[in-house]
Amino acid sequence: MNRVFNFSAGPSMLPMPVLESAAADLVNYKDAGMSVMEMSHRSPAYDAIIKAAEASLRKVMNIPDNYKVLFLQGGASTQFAAIPLNLMKTGKADYILSGQFSTKAYKEAQKYGDVVAVASSKDDNFSHVPATTRDTFRPDADYVHMCFNNTIYGTKFNYIPDTGDIPLVADMSSCIISEPVDVTKFGVIYAGAQKNMAPAGLTVVIIREDLIGNARPETPSMLDYKLMADNDSMYNTPPCWSIYVAGLVFDWILSIGGLEEMKKMNEKKANLLYDYLDSQDYYIAPVSKESRSMMNVTFVTGVEELDKKFPKEAEKAGLVNLKGHRSVGGMRASIYNAMPYEGVEKLVEFMKEFAANNPKE
Ligand SMILES: *Cc1c(COP(=O)(O)O)cnc(C)c1O
Repeated sequence: MNRVFNFSAGPSMLPMPVLESAAADLVNYKDAGMSVMEMSHRSPAYDAIIKAAEASLRKVMNIPDNYKVLFLQGGASTQFAAIPLNLMKTGKADYILSGQFSTKAYKEAQKYGDVVAVASSKDDNFSHVPATTRDTFRPDADYVHMCFNNTIYGTKFNYIPDTGDIPLVADMSSCIISEPVDVTKFGVIYAGAQKNMAPAGLTVVIIREDLIGNARPETPSMLDYKLMADNDSMYNTPPCWSIYVAGLVFDWILSIGGLEEMKKMNEKKANLLYDYLDSQDYYIAPVSKESRSMMNVTFVTGVEELDKKFPKEAEKAGLVNLKGHRSVGGMRASIYNAMPYEGVEKLVEFMKEFAANNPKE
């Protein structure tokens, strides 16, 4: 079988046991005589699937009972609007700008109220995450928004901002279920599924119950957390297939020992790559060390032609989608949960060969 190592930032690799399990049940799910793709979302068989997926996610992330789990659509980008519409009680919100997605979220929120960028690392080309203290935030802000892992730049918060009593809202699209996280430190966690959880189409929102029920009157029904929560994510047809696969992914994580174990595996992969980057001077890792992401690793050669050549040559070696985001250039290796250690080993080997074969002038 000719599987490649896919370093795409998203949609991205899924664990092999998950693909195999989905394939085995593809045309006839547990004697239902049909695929999950063909099933009514109101059927008992599907009801069991969505409930099991939620229960597994709760177990994986240790989500307390006073948090709702919502399975929504529209991607993380839709949450950029849903967050202010649902949480802006007085119309004030503070945003931490640590990259492109947090900036998009900030701009979207500006449509709805008094929104301030209270901290930003833009002047440093987002190569580190901004430092904050409790004094960074306006005491009367309805919430503080951050993006925990910055997919494009390859940075991650190495701390959870202390916002006191102000609810902290985190976009965790590219780091959710990569390591344990204390859910109680957050008012809302949201994530598009296609990076680390499932095929595209599903957005997971984990929200503290007391933050539900304050949506502004003009909030579209589909963005109203209360309506979604009251209907157990079944107000309309949910992304059935994606939720099913997400359930398989959550169960896979439980089967390997949960997020503690997942973190160890992810650290081992990231360390292999960063240790190599730190040991040589052909490639440059532009991100400051203390802000390094465990999921998205960015590097450049410093020579434009070589940066162009690298992903093309890598593809021939079965290492695909290593081109950096169009806005930053260079290379990016996204090494989410499903990327095997072997894939990163192969990448480092390839990097060494490429450096030897392509000396800089
Ligand atoms: C990919 C990504 C998004 C956008 O997600 P969509 O599901 O495509 O809307 C937002 N935030 C982060 C951190 C991402 O990595």
